[in-house]
Amino acid sequence: AARAAPDYLDGLNPEQREAVETTEGPVLVLAGAGTGKTRVLTTRIAHILATGRAYPSQILAVTFTNKAAREMKERIGMLVGGAVEGMPWLGTFHSIGVKMLRRNAELVGLKSDFTILDTDDVIRLIKQILQAESVDDKRWPAKQFAAMIDGWKNKGLDPAQIPEGDARAFANGKGRELYIAYQNRLLTLNACDFGDLLLHPIRMFKKHPDVLKEYHERFRYILVDEYQDTNTAQYMWLRLLAQRSSPRSFSPREGGMPGRAEGGAPRRNASDLPPSVASGDISPSRGEINKVNICCVGDDDQSIYGWRGAEVDNILRFEKDFPGAKVIKLERNYRSTGHILGAAGHLIAHNEGRLGKTLFTERFDPEHDKVQVHAAWDSEEEARAVGEEIEQLQRAKHKLNDMAILVRASFQMREFEDRFVTLGLNYRVVGGPRFYERLEIRDAMAYFRLVCQPADDLAFERIINTPKRGLGDTSVRALHDYARARDIPMLAAAADMIETEELKAAARKSLFNVVTDFRRWQSLLENTPHTELAEQILDESGYTAMWQNDKSAEAPGRLENLKELVRSMEQFESLRSFLEHVALVMDAEKNEDMDAVNIMTLHSAKGLEFETVFLPGWEEGLFPHQRSLDEGGRSGLEEERRLAYVGLTRAKRRAHIWFVSNRRIHGLWQSTIPSRFLEELPLEHVEVSESQNSNYGGYGRNPYGQSRFDKQEPFQNTYSTPGWKRAQANRTDATRDNWGSRSGHQVERIGYGESGPRAKTIPG
Ligand code: ATP
Ligand code: MG
Repeated sequence: AARAAPDYLDGLNPEQREAVETTEGPVLVLAGAGTGKTRVLTTRIAHILATGRAYPSQILAVTFTNKAAREMKERIGMLVGGAVEGMPWLGTFHSIGVKMLRRNAELVGLKSDFTILDTDDVIRLIKQILQAESVDDKRWPAKQFAAMIDGWKNKGLDPAQIPEGDARAFANGKGRELYIAYQNRLLTLNACDFGDLLLHPIRMFKKHPDVLKEYHERFRYILVDEYQDTNTAQYMWLRLLAQRSSPRSFSPREGGMPGRAEGGAPRRNASDLPPSVASGDISPSRGEINKVNICCVGDDDQSIYGWRGAEVDNILRFEKDFPGAKVIKLERNYRSTGHILGAAGHLIAHNEGRLGKTLFTERFDPEHDKVQVHAAWDSEEEARAVGEEIEQLQRAKHKLNDMAILVRASFQMREFEDRFVTLGLNYRVVGGPRFYERLEIRDAMAYFRLVCQPADDLAFERIINTPKRGLGDTSVRALHDYARARDIPMLAAAADMIETEELKAAARKSLFNVVTDFRRWQSLLENTPHTELAEQILDESGYTAMWQNDKSAEAPGRLENLKELVRSMEQFESLRSFLEHVALVMDAEKNEDMDAVNIMTLHSAKGLEFETVFLPGWEEGLFPHQRSLDEGGRSGLEEERRLAYVGLTRAKRRAHIWFVSNRRIHGLWQSTIPSRFLEELPLEHVEVSESQNSNYGGYGRNPYGQSRFDKQEPFQNTYSTPGWKRAQANRTDATRDNWGSRSGHQVERIGYGESGPRAKTIPG
């Protein structure tokens, strides 16, 4: 019998609705920014739950950030009415991977309390391995090898699988051997790096089909957001979970679950059913080809993690790997005004090798602001002017929460932070590991880690002589050797060596104190509130005192940060869960509720939207980034352009772009050239406005009337205003081809409704 469409389907357009309601079989939603891909995913989950197709615990949903996961959970709750309990498998690749690993750690040789190492630890560990293998760290830096390992892991490669050439490329052919040594060392330390959070589950699934089968039975629906940025390892992991080759595999039953009215709300307590129980209501498929209920959504134009191994080709492989996949395109952008979409679309049209999509908006109103391009003398003025703009909006009753500053490189943040502190404007830094990366925070965390996980030698080495305890390199080396010879953790070695004559009496006394301290803290772990214990550890270890006695200018700030660290633990159940949180580098927002300007990198802004977006630093060398220019070739530059596209398409109503004439990069002042991306913005959607502070008469002139272009003839006409504007107005296909389709390949035809440009096809 026909039922009225439930509320949560209200307002979806027909394509969105199709993507939501096609719950069975593989679905790929390929669509541009702001077309409602994420909304489709969220509604789809709500639909699956509301129609009783699965319990929350039977849905695997992968988002790009933890913040996105949180928001999605909230949205689903709103759509189905009432909080969604559970959804234990909604999270990032890493957070889901770590969960799978903790459940079956022993299958890959770890214990379930394994530590997750961050980059810094990884590099220290590799240094040790290089030293042990007598590899010259100067010639073959640990950092470089860490990057190689990371690259291999992103591709899902175990030591045996790395290409011969790669293996030869490091330390005179020792690459493979060192990779093996590194993995072995991780197992000894009961630790893993970020890549292992996916690689270990992959290994586990391949070696133990029964474990994989359990997940197959559990997950009836798989959903992935930002699919364009999955790397090979993530793709392998997904495919293992999604593809059921066994003929005895299961397919979900159409309709509701037993004992419940169709369309009834799922049982609230269902989320924790073990898979055996949960699969009880799944009937075996009757000979038909088993359908995989996987839905991926993505946009090739927003693929911005190529540098981290993301493979946009995964989109193209989808239909091959999941035969019979339904591909759905969404074309209406609900987010941005016509000017913003027009500017962004024109910019991205300069890339080749796009899949080609149509995008239009109905948010076109001549009253809407064009994209504003501003010039400033230097980054200080840029920050000042942005601050003024924000205050102006604030006076007009706009919320700070609705504004974001999206930077290309994180060093750009400090200037804005300083300025906002001066102005008393609230701000938050979103999505960054900044806070937890600070020296004092890392030291403190090392203490906590060692208390929770006594085999964590890297933590031990980090703090054994911090604060100074007279345990210098010689003692540490002796401890190290002793531990290695007996294959025991260094903390255990320390306990042993108190008794031996190998160390000087003073060192032994220090060690005795350290060992006693750690034993005491460990004994308090279960029964003392963890924030109290944390404070106690920092005080009793002398770490707090170390900074109290420090006369440097940073010391007071560091003490504040330590306080903040303890405060930030309050929301966690235990020291362990807090450590896990930090290891996963969650967002470090202090107070979600406060009205504050958002500062973040372009990379972490993916998927988000704001009324007003500020895009500072559009200069050659910064954006596009120098690295992409040095690479030569097109791909790095195109990824930068996609990043610019992501930045612009975050804006709903207002986008402000800035470029400065002088910027300090790595401590050195450099005069700069406006970004080529500026020239790729069509004048019909862009307005160049004078900065109120730039009273030096036009862009490119410093207060002394000297042009920064004086020595840069070729750019003078193109970039200096009004020359820059003129160049825009008179721009010919030739200038455009300079940046765009240099080799004359086909450019996909893209339309932007009434408002936007239409890219033409350039014959090959
Ligand atoms: P991105 O590629 O940037 O991740 P997206 O395709 O995931 O974008 P969403 O974030 O899901 O897009 O949606 C963009 C905005 O449009 C959101 O504010 C969303 O609520 C709104 N939206 C999506 N679909 C509709 C609709 N049918 N009616 C009204 N608003 C919609
Ligand atoms: Mg999205």
